[in-house]
Amino acid sequence: MTREFTCIICPNGCEIEAQIQDGVLVSMTGHTCPKGEAYVKQELTDPRRNIATSILVKGGELPLASVRLTNPIPKDQIFAAMEAIKALSLTAPVQAGTIVLEKILGYDSDVIVTKSVDLNV
Ligand code: SF4
Repeated sequence: MTREFTCIICPNGCEIEAQIQDGVLVSMTGHTCPKGEAYVKQELTDPRRNIATSILVKGGELPLASVRLTNPIPKDQIFAAMEAIKALSLTAPVQAGTIVLEKILGYDSDVIVTKSVDLNV
């Protein structure tokens, strides 16, 4: 069978057409670097995604601090991870780089602040 993928590893977003047989990659076209093949293989066996979202900040000059995961987690765990992140709140000041939740859902991935929020003075 033929499956189409858009590689999300870099901004090029290569459109890949892959021939799959019994869940195994047989051949592919459209990728312009080896990472594309690794991406398709990962998608076939253990698809993963990152999350970029925001968390409420109390007393901050901005109401929200942007956060992301340090490593992608299994795609089917994104909803549960979003719920865990939604339950968090922070108190200003918040520094970029601060880990606000370690090993989300037990995975090797932390929730990290990507934009500082100063105190609202
Ligand atoms: S195949 Fe390579 S160049 Fe194309 S999007 Fe993926 S990582 Fe980027």
